Amino acid sequence: MLILECPCCGVAGEETEFAGGGEAHLKRFGPGSSDDEFHTYLFAKENPKGVHFERWRHANGCGKWFLAARNTMTLEVYGTYSAQTTEPPQKIKDKISAKVPGWSWREFS
Ligand SMILES: [Zn+2]
Repeated sequence: MLILECPCCGVAGEETEFAGGGEAHLKRFGPGSSDDEFHTYLFAKENPKGVHFERWRHANGCGKWFLAARNTMTLEVYGTYSAQTTEPPQKIKDKISAKVPGWSWREFS
């Protein structure tokens, strides 16, 4: 069972209380971008076996969007944080590095 804590209102609940919104920290491309960039933005998503960053909405609560860092194999949640960030907080990065040795960061931009 996946338990998430909404960083906006502080309520923790099962995943059925929330709605998944796909991958977090996507680099967005719009008008003026190349076809390849736009295609990649729309269709090329990560689907890792392990650490993943996702967008979630507290659908049956405050209704706000937030981001979560979790492990797709173990369902361990490393932390949730504001959707208004461009990369995970250092505290969450440190927690992941301690629990998943050898895991490397991708570029967040
Ligand atoms: Zn909430």
